[in-house]
Amino acid sequence: MSRKAFLAQTWDERAKCKGMDVGIFYEDDADEPRSSDSRRPTYDEAKAKKTCARCPVRDECLQDALDRKDFHGGVHGGLNAEELRAERRRRMRRASDARAADLKTEQEVAA
Ligand code: SF4
Repeated sequence: MSRKAFLAQTWDERAKCKGMDVGIFYEDDADEPRSSDSRRPTYDEAKAKKTCARCPVRDECLQDALDRKDFHGGVHGGLNAEELRAERRRRMRRASDARAADLKTEQEVAA
């Protein structure tokens, strides 16, 4: 693949999970009837996280999940739902701390 073609791809086209049966990434949805296909892989958090660890677009996938607040039912960007919520809180705290620091600096400069 040429560099130009590579760069023209969207991040999800370069995902390690692309083309995989993504059953290992998704917990069963209580509202959805269970698939009758017994060959469908079931949720396997460890295996999913191992795939994500080798994924070249993990950062993009994680940011996408955080943006969509898609915190239910599986692994996205290498984190499960609980870890995604914690990561979102951590990023919000960090952004809030940065805004507070900027405001303090502005006030000190103005004084
Ligand atoms: S980080 Fe994981 S879920 Fe996200 S695209 Fe990569 S392999 Fe798929």
